Amino acid sequence: MRLFRSSEIIGIAADTLDFALEASEETHPNEYMGLLRGESARTLGLDRDGTVVTDVLVIPGTRSNPVSATVKTNMIPNDRDAIGSVHSHPNGVLRPSDADLATFGNGDVHIIIGHPYERRNWQAYDRQGEPRQLPVLDVDLPDDEAFFDFTQEDIDAELGLTEGDDAVEDATPEPDPDGDDRRDGEERR
Ligand SMILES: [Zn+2]
Repeated sequence: MRLFRSSEIIGIAADTLDFALEASEETHPNEYMGLLRGESARTLGLDRDGTVVTDVLVIPGTRSNPVSATVKTNMIPNDRDAIGSVHSHPNGVLRPSDADLATFGNGDVHIIIGHPYERRNWQAYDRQGEPRQLPVLDVDLPDDEAFFDFTQEDIDAELGLTEGDDAVEDATPEPDPDGDDRRDGEERR
């Protein structure tokens, strides 16, 4: 599965960081976990190349407790915009755990947010688990309503369920009341 696309990540939108901090606080004392997605800097009106983290995608079915969060990997959409991850450490420790390091190879940037979830209580890491810079950028997100108000339709589209529905329909057997119905093609053998 092609989960992550490599592109230089030049920062995170301030609104996106605040959203993740608030979500982490609301999830406390359990861990918060999500995938990061981005927009090209030029799309956001910046005069430079690169990708800005603009979006946090929480995977349906994610279970969490105070020390870990488990993502159902079969629920992760095949999303080429996913560029990393964010999760919280309710104990406030901003260092990645061994389990974290084992997953950081997927994606270019990984954010750990710690209790008490203020603006200074986070750190970004690279694939190797080394701290990296992630400037907070004051940019206007392209579509605030779409960002905060998901409809079920949006979620289905994200998960590719539209295609899945078609497949299920095709697989449904047609009614066969007398049990010996044959398709035309088979009758002509
Ligand atoms: Zn962790």
